[in-house]
Amino acid sequence: MDLYLYNTRTRKKEKFIPSYPPQVGLYSCGPTVYDYAHIGNLRTYIFNDILRRVLEYNGWRVRHVMNITDVGHLVSDADEGEDKILLGARREKKSPYEIAYYYTEKFFEHTKKLNILKPHITCRATEHIQEMVEFVETLVARGLAYETSDGIYFSIEKFPGYGKLSGLNLDEQKEGARVEVNPEKEHPADFALWKKAPKNHIMQWESPWGLGFPGWHLECSAMGLKYLGEYFDIHTGGVDHVPIHHENEIAQNWGYTGREVIRYWLHAEFLQVDGGKMSKSLGNVYNMHDLEEKGFEPLAFRYLTLNAHYRKLMNFTWEAMDGAQKALNRLRSGIDRFRQTDRDHHGREKLNHYRQEFKEALNDDLNLPKAMAILWDIVRGEDVSKEAYELIMEMDTIFGLDLQRIEKEKEKGELPDWIHQLIEKREEARQQKDWETADSIRDELAREGIKLIDTPEGVQWEYTEKTR
Ligand code: AMP
Ligand code: ZN
Repeated sequence: MDLYLYNTRTRKKEKFIPSYPPQVGLYSCGPTVYDYAHIGNLRTYIFNDILRRVLEYNGWRVRHVMNITDVGHLVSDADEGEDKILLGARREKKSPYEIAYYYTEKFFEHTKKLNILKPHITCRATEHIQEMVEFVETLVARGLAYETSDGIYFSIEKFPGYGKLSGLNLDEQKEGARVEVNPEKEHPADFALWKKAPKNHIMQWESPWGLGFPGWHLECSAMGLKYLGEYFDIHTGGVDHVPIHHENEIAQNWGYTGREVIRYWLHAEFLQVDGGKMSKSLGNVYNMHDLEEKGFEPLAFRYLTLNAHYRKLMNFTWEAMDGAQKALNRLRSGIDRFRQTDRDHHGREKLNHYRQEFKEALNDDLNLPKAMAILWDIVRGEDVSKEAYELIMEMDTIFGLDLQRIEKEKEKGELPDWIHQLIEKREEARQQKDWETADSIRDELAREGIKLIDTPEGVQWEYTEKTR
């Protein structure tokens, strides 16, 4: 079955055809690590995660790359104001490196709680300065960038495709530009590739243009090309990145390679709170701590976001959050009766039909609300069988909601029967010296958070962190 994804670049749902099947190169704009990720950011990372899982479900082998912005992202996306990392450093009276390190750790801690799979490669801007300097040198040598008293700027009028992603033309960009435009820029929308550092700027590196630091847009181009090559499949981010950040990335990539590097651009809509923008002044910029403090399970937030299509604006309220937690609890208890049954071969045709519908929903530009409705149909239905349970678990490889609910057994301190059966199967395999089967069962249990320890008295087990 073909997979269709909405490509911002063409404003259409397009059949997904990777350039080097079965490999798929996927790049996601990562966090600016100067504060905790808020629930809007987290919605976007859940979207990235679902996309990766759906690609894998379709049989593609995904290489997922995400940057960590630890320098260069200024307060205004249009290269003005203070570096956000320095802002965080001043706020907390720490060094910028401490700030970046702390919030990177927290980012991965929080995304793990949401069952967001860690990208295969995560790369920090500060560790790729050399690549970025070389990138700028190439653009300057090709006459696409120029030097001013405060940096090196990309000349957007040199790139005929500028504005195509967002549908803006250059004149509109000129009119839309804000008042505090840098008078040295040839066009108000020209953007910084490299900024010369003011004397008191803590983060700065040597370059052919003196001490300075890289522009935020450049890091994504440089690291995307480095880790995914000069022609890769998908780039994702939130909708706010369309008019500036991604437009600039396309321009840089074109300047460096002479062509379009990325085929499909996917963007997640925003999350709002109480019907409006999240803002510090309204005190409604919520993060993982707020969810947990109010007693919500992180996965209930994941559940909540899966009930809105990623291209639709989503409104967060605590009532909706409460509803999501209750629904997730109901879903899990509904699934319990499937787990406990030993009925099989029941309603196979119907199950195949459900599987087909599920896949159709996923492959129609990630229609997760529809996929979720199919799950509920099964769980509420009368066809309680082992096979239905297996289908539910298969669906959870996309939803990522821990529907197996090992946690409940953990509380009781006992293992469910199917885990005992797996341990026994592994013992049999070991006796027959079938190490491959034995190892694959051990790995499967590790993914469920159960570690096996072989002792002279026999095999013992303990709960550990789930491996991914
Ligand atoms: P940042 O850490 O600011 O670079 O943003 C990280 C990601 O979150 C980017 O992909 C943004 O587009 C996205 N993002 C920012 N605000 C929101 C929001 N309110 N809802 C959804 N995504 C957002
Ligand atoms: Zn980016």
